Parts: sequence; structure tokens; C-alpha cells
Amino acid sequence: KAKRRGRNTCQWYTDDLNRKVSERVSLRNALQQAIEQEEFELYFQPQIHGPSGRVIGVEALIRWQHPERGFVSPGDFIPLAEDTGQIIPISDWVLTTACRVAKQLNGLGLGRITMAVNVSPMQFQRPGFLASIQLVLEESGLAADLLELELTEGVLMDSAEQAIQALQDLRQLGVHIAMDDFGTGFSSLSYLKHLPINKIKIDRSFINDVVSDHRDAAIVEGVLTMAAKLDLDVLVEGVETAAQYAYLRQQLCDYFQGFYFARPMPLEALLSFLCEQQRHL
Ligand code: C2E
Ligand code: MG
Ligand code: MG
Ligand code: MG
Repeated sequence: KAKRRGRNTCQWYTDDLNRKVSERVSLRNALQQAIEQEEFELYFQPQIHGPSGRVIGVEALIRWQHPERGFVSPGDFIPLAEDTGQIIPISDWVLTTACRVAKQLNGLGLGRITMAVNVSPMQFQRPGFLASIQLVLEESGLAADLLELELTEGVLMDSAEQAIQALQDLRQLGVHIAMDDFGTGFSSLSYLKHLPINKIKIDRSFINDVVSDHRDAAIVEGVLTMAAKLDLDVLVEGVETAAQYAYLRQQLCDYFQGFYFARPMPLEALLSFLCEQQRHL
């Protein structure tokens, strides 16, 4: 009996595996079509400077509207694209589009608005990365210091020496570097003193319960103190409530992003949002 059940279990796993594999294959094919047909769109989420209340930047976030599947979350297709290498053409499209938009935004008389772009590990580690950034800045006419590249801890830890050199080269261009999802990797803190970065973005998992859980609060306060002493800017992600915002302002945090201020939105909506903000300042 046990044997039979064992075989059934095995069969069940195999079916499950087959389904997962075929789902991946079909998603990969769909992704290929998306690249060719440009089914992607960029959304933009405002980043707020607390003390002035101004929008000082936006983060570009990719959206995929598949003709039959509907909306596919980047959390679902970016990791797959990273595995298949499709992340490269996708990233090129994101960078080109984001820089073009940034150039346009900064010509509207709404003040300085930086464009934060997520960089995937494969993209960062490719030999031509620096040159591709240089090219996209030239083609768009965007000032380098209006572009901020968001990298995760993992990317920077993989081959620290090489990563540091690559970051220095980017900084030399004038581009800003932010460490995304700070606190979720398993890296040592000592790298922080070696990496030429401008900003850390505290992951939203620490913010969810920051008002009620003294352990989250302790971590956030510790990071803020450390960052100040290391001369790094801090942006807090995932601020959803007035209470979270009030608490974080009290902790002298300066930069914020989250649903409390604005959700990611298409360009037209962003333009109205920015104009509206301008009228209220
Ligand atoms: P991320 O870079 O950490 O982006 C922040 C994510 O948090 C976004 O999810 C955003 O919509 C969400 N978010 C912002 N504020 C709040 C909030 O207050 N509450 C909650 N619950 N969520 C909030 P999204 O757009 O689904 O993107 C997920 C991840 O996919 C991104 O995380 C990033 O790692 C990746 N991604 C998105 N666009 C790109 C891209 O163009 N290139 C690459 N390589 N990765 C991308
Ligand atoms: Mg990001
Ligand atoms: Mg993040
Ligand atoms: Mg994140």
C-alpha cells in the first residue's frame, strides 16, 4: 500500500513539475512576443522629499499587459526573463524609455525630477553596461545626475571587487546609485563602507509594522543613524499610512515612496499629479 501511495505521490510531483515547466515555456514564448510587439509600459511612482513635500523623483516600474493573460506582475516575469536572458532587451527598452521620459519631465518647469531605474543582476554584470548607460544618456540628452540606478545587495555582493569598480565608473559619469530592498539580502554590513553608492532604500518589509513592532522600529532607527554617519541618503519604501509617515518623519527620515503618497501610474497620470502638486506648494 505504502509503495503504491509512494508511486502516486511521485506521479503527482511529476505532473506538477510538468505543469510548471510547460507554464514556464509558454510564459517565455509570450515574453518573446511581448518584446517584439512592445506590450510593455512604464509606470512611474513619485518619490517625496518629506521636509519640503516636493516630488523629487520617480521610480520607473515595468508593466506588461498581455492580450489574453491580462496584467502580468513584474514579480512574476522579471525573474524568468533574468533566467532566459530576455531581461537584456527588456532592460534596454526600460532604460531608453525612462531616460526619454525623464528628459521630458525635467523640461516642464516643475523642478528637478530624478528617474530611478531598476537594474537587474545580468544587466549590471554584462561587459557593455557602462557603455550602454553612456549611450542612452547621449541619445536622450538627459543629464547624468538625473538618472539613478537601483541595484540590489545581491548584485553588489557577487563579485565585490568588480562591482566596486563598475560603480565607480558609473559615478564618474555622474549617475546616482541606490541600493534597493536594503535589509533583505544576507550580506555583511562592511561592504557599505566600500561601495560608492548615494542612497539606500529601506525595504518595505521593515515598514509594514514599524509603528507597532518595536523590533522593526529598532532596525529602521539603526539604519537611519548608520546611514547619516556614512553620509548616505535614505529613502523608505512602502509607506502606506499617515501613522507610518509621521513616525518616520519624527525619526528624521527625508525621502519616501509608497501608496500613502501615490501608486505607480502611467505617464499622463503622473503629469497631472505633478501639476496638481505644483499648485499646492
Ligand atoms: P522594487 O524595485 O522594490 O519596486 C517597488 C515595488 O513596491 C513595486 O512593485 C511597487 O509597486 C511596490 N510598492 C510601492 N509602494 C508600495 C506600498 O506602499 N505598498 C506596497 N505593498 N507596495 C508598494 P512592482 O511594480 O510590482 O515591482 C516589483 C519588483 O519588480 C520591483 O521591486 C523590481 O525589483 C522589479 N521591477 C519592476 N520594474 C522593473 C524593471 O523595469 N526592471 C527590472 N530589472 N526590475 C523591475
Ligand atoms: Mg526598485
Ligand atoms: Mg525596492
Ligand atoms: Mg522590492
